[in-house]
Amino acid sequence: MSAVKANRGYLASSLGCRCPRCREGKLFQNPISINLKKNMLMNKTCPVCGQATEIEVGFYYGTSYVSYALTVALSIATLVAWWFIIGLSVDDNRFFWWMGCNAVLLLFLQPWLMRVSRSLWISWFVKYDPYWKEHQPEDVSERMNADQATNW
Ligand SMILES: [Zn+2]
Repeated sequence: MSAVKANRGYLASSLGCRCPRCREGKLFQNPISINLKKNMLMNKTCPVCGQATEIEVGFYYGTSYVSYALTVALSIATLVAWWFIIGLSVDDNRFFWWMGCNAVLLLFLQPWLMRVSRSLWISWFVKYDPYWKEHQPEDVSERMNADQATNW
């Protein structure tokens, strides 16, 4: 058995939307796009190690909470940065300028945020396997039964 040393750590892999099992294969089919439908098209299985990207029916149902949490975290980060660099005051509109800039930033980051939410989500369920070349990916065909695809 020989371990394959991953080129990426956990964060680089999840933020870069790579398969959590091998940290190599891309989760998404297309380059990041403002066409949200195209943006969210995933590879059915990891093109490198064969890990299924949807491990059960409705697997990504909870990702809106992740993207919400990311949005809040980013807004706090930009608010703190704004406070240090530009400052905040009740006497002028600097707070409203932050709100506007933050909203535009979040809008531009949306395609990426939606992807990262899924990438983080799957990384909590599928662990990195340094021996992925020797192991078979978990068979999920039973949980992905086509009859149940509409049952959730
Ligand atoms: Zn993989």
